[in-house]
Amino acid sequence: MISREVLDKVLMKVEKPARYIGNEQNIIEKDLDNVKVRFAFAFPDVYEVGMSHLGLHILYNLLNEEEEIYCERVFAPWVDMEEQMKKNNIPLYALESKDPLKEFDFIGFTLQYEMSYTNVLNMLHLADIPLLAKERGEDDPIIIAGGPCSYNPEPLADFVDVFVIGEGEELTLEILNVYKQMKEEGKNKADFLKEITKLQGVYVPAFYEVKYNEDGTIKSMEPKDDSYPRKIKKRIIKDLNETYFPEKVIVPYIETVHDRVMLEIFRGCTRGCRFCQAGMIYRPVRERKVENLVDLARKLIRATGHEEISLSSLSTSDYSQLEELVIKLLDEFEDKKIGLSLPSLRLDSFSLDIVERIQKVRKTGLTFAPEAGTQRLRDVINKGITEEDLISSVTDAFGLGWSTVKLYFMLGLPTETEEDILGIKELAYKVKNIFFKIPKNERKGNLKITVSTSCFVPKPFTPFQWYPQDSIDTFREKINILKDNIKDRKITYNHHDPELSFLEAVFARGDRRLSKALLRAWEKGCKFDGWSDMFKYDRWMEAFEETEINPDFYALRERSYYEILPWDFIDVGVSKQYLMRENEKAMNGELTPDCRQGCTGCGINKAFTGGVC
Ligand code: SF4
Repeated sequence: MISREVLDKVLMKVEKPARYIGNEQNIIEKDLDNVKVRFAFAFPDVYEVGMSHLGLHILYNLLNEEEEIYCERVFAPWVDMEEQMKKNNIPLYALESKDPLKEFDFIGFTLQYEMSYTNVLNMLHLADIPLLAKERGEDDPIIIAGGPCSYNPEPLADFVDVFVIGEGEELTLEILNVYKQMKEEGKNKADFLKEITKLQGVYVPAFYEVKYNEDGTIKSMEPKDDSYPRKIKKRIIKDLNETYFPEKVIVPYIETVHDRVMLEIFRGCTRGCRFCQAGMIYRPVRERKVENLVDLARKLIRATGHEEISLSSLSTSDYSQLEELVIKLLDEFEDKKIGLSLPSLRLDSFSLDIVERIQKVRKTGLTFAPEAGTQRLRDVINKGITEEDLISSVTDAFGLGWSTVKLYFMLGLPTETEEDILGIKELAYKVKNIFFKIPKNERKGNLKITVSTSCFVPKPFTPFQWYPQDSIDTFREKINILKDNIKDRKITYNHHDPELSFLEAVFARGDRRLSKALLRAWEKGCKFDGWSDMFKYDRWMEAFEETEINPDFYALRERSYYEILPWDFIDVGVSKQYLMRENEKAMNGELTPDCRQGCTGCGINKAFTGGVC
């Protein structure tokens, strides 16, 4: 255990010491004498971000339900704490026991965002654990990783021992149980890794060999032994109602990104937006029952004292019993002044009086994500929103007293033209005009419209996975078009950093050769890359040059349908033929209806049972 005395001294010198103390309400502490497997849930970003992640709370509580497993938490220390830890020889430790991570059996990273990869390396380094899997010995912890980025795990292949592909609740427990048994039998790490390849959803990168063509594309990816699976099929939970969901969660001492009860109402999405990875990899749709959710909300509010409930999913409006759920939650909680937040809500899903009831407790901002400025481009990406939808929702909202609107778009979508870019401006101006059409004495509040653009990053397992990303210069030109054209005091224009999106695109569709560049970038001081004030683009470019890797090859190159993609060995259930078909339809501007209106043959129902289809 880290000396409390040293730690206390160090904590006086850092910003937000509560990040490193633990001891919050509802943490779980166990007697180590009764524990057989120690697991550190590692979130490669700061405490406030990690503690807002629902998956952390689910896995933390689920693993700790097992008597002989002890799951603790660890986050990336901010730079001030890192400096103090180094000065005082404090290795990275878990918040519950304050024991160094090196003493654990497993360190489990959740990979939510490509730009957290250098933090994974930095955390291993601070824990004094060799970064490369091949350099770790029998006594080092096993490094396991999951989360959305593990759907293309290859850029981290040199560092991670085991990837969990798909939903981790059942699989993580199965892996730890195999470990416990094999440890008791005196088996070694290699035996364990071999054994778990039999579990659906486990990928051990060291057991595969990749060969390349002269042009740098992949020639083959083969298991080193016939007993390892050629395809790794993702894991899903069949019935969400039967799945574990914590009835109490840890309540932080400091403000986090989301200080509220998060209720997961369903997984998956049937809309089929063509840029959206989550919409493809999390299929099929599985809903939790209303009674189940209301009961959970009651227990979680009691256990945490939070004053807000957030309904979490990819598209709240698509929950089939939304009105019933919202009314029940309002009936139960509105008098207690507990607010409801419904991200990605479409106003047309409700009668106006329910919207008014939600707003009475806590007024939230109004957010729309049309994603593209013209109907033509919205059809290309299969975003089922029309201008009329937006206009009618905004009109209703202004009538109900909203005056702050956020509009989200993407630049660099396939087939985009200048007209589409200017369409973003025009849509924002139309929203402004709706507000000022309301007679002056009936207008409520001061209008504020925020237009934000991100840079499109083509992602694996989407119909646009073959598509080249725009270059940084092209993104700059497009951003400048909007900067030059949006000239209105009521409208603020924000944009994402193209350099960061370029790097995200490199790693999103990268292969295992990128491990080298990642290591070099970390050695050159890159970490917290997702934080714009910490992002060091020049160092990254040096790292690519020094490791002789051309990042453009990954971000800017168009792939052919015949190319072997680094993630092709993963079976997410949605077929490649479907993605190709969707890509062709996109180029013709053809829509694919939401599959609640009829199956469009993505293939998930052949690969997996469960869900709505
Ligand atoms: S199998 Fe059909 S209904 Fe199910 S998600 Fe795919 S397209 Fe939709």
